[in-house]
Amino acid sequence: MQLRRGDVGPAVAEVAATLRALGLLPATALPAMAQSRPAAVFDVELEHAVRAFQQRRGLITDGVVGPSTYRALRDARWTLGDRMLAFLVSSPVTGDDVFALQERLLELGYDVGRPDGIFGPQTEHALRGFQRDYGMTADGVCGPATMRALRQLAPKVRGGRPVFLREQERVRNAGPRLRGKRIVIDPGHGWGDRGAVAGTACEADLMWDLARRLEGRMAATGMEALLSRGPTSCPEDRDRARFANDAGADLFLSLHTDANPSPFAQGIATYHFGTGNGTTSNVGEALAGFIQRELVARTGMLDCGTHPKTWEILRLTRMPAVRIEAGYLSNAGDRARLLDPIFRDVLAEGILVAVKRLYLLGENDQPTGTFTFHELLRRELAAPA
Ligand SMILES: [Zn+2]
Repeated sequence: MQLRRGDVGPAVAEVAATLRALGLLPATALPAMAQSRPAAVFDVELEHAVRAFQQRRGLITDGVVGPSTYRALRDARWTLGDRMLAFLVSSPVTGDDVFALQERLLELGYDVGRPDGIFGPQTEHALRGFQRDYGMTADGVCGPATMRALRQLAPKVRGGRPVFLREQERVRNAGPRLRGKRIVIDPGHGWGDRGAVAGTACEADLMWDLARRLEGRMAATGMEALLSRGPTSCPEDRDRARFANDAGADLFLSLHTDANPSPFAQGIATYHFGTGNGTTSNVGEALAGFIQRELVARTGMLDCGTHPKTWEILRLTRMPAVRIEAGYLSNAGDRARLLDPIFRDVLAEGILVAVKRLYLLGENDQPTGTFTFHELLRRELAAPA
């Protein structure tokens, strides 16, 4: 299924209704006299709203409603309390209401794993635990009574979010050496979706090249670096996440460049999993911070900061994950640097050093931006097994 500008019909009406409910499309778009249903047209205004929605969700911002945008729109229609929620083995329920339930349970100290908006067995287990503790029928079904109880309770433990404490524990126990650690490098976009394009420069190819540079350096330190796609493929974000989950990766690094209609937008930003209201992957945030500081110090590019997001790629990966937006391809200065292979080496080394800093638990005498790849390699190979 694909809807784009110019299309007409009930599916377009459905998309428009959802965007209207989300406040992305003005509610006054209908003529007042219309008793009969007006023909829904995918117009410029709707395309603009689709783009805004895609941007908010970390989807490819193309203004076209393809399968992943359609899925995200469907999920966004549900708010907690709209419907009963339960674990259905054959086709798990997904939606923003499931995400809100998971977040609430986490806040209350129940281990739902990473909130992903999918009602799976772990969510059911956590919900039963909650129901048992509060003297309710532990049926694992989130209906009106459970909803009321969830709304009334104050968070039991602040910061006691088991899945993220487990991530921290794993990094602490992993030791400072890079050898043996498994990293999935995710070059953004791919075949058929070139990402940001400016002149002859395209994000998909540049990030593929950066991924290979990073992969080579990681392999030299004894790390196991895996790529989420080949040079001529373009899996969906959920499939990239599944690949990393199946590989049991320790970390996930997604490589992108940004683009903006304004040629002045420039700089580096990093993103980690977090809802913006307290639920955050602490390890993801720490790694994003290390990467951000190393890259800004090494490149002198504008510091656009580190931000929590619930994008699919950050939500569905079950390990600390960071998405790097390494400059704006739409900015002449950033673009010129990204096109320079030596600059891409600088990026690769900065990212690798940041990963090393994470496993050193931030204890390193080298000031940010000065730890070289050769120094890192020397120390890595000299370290006792
Ligand atoms: Zn991108």
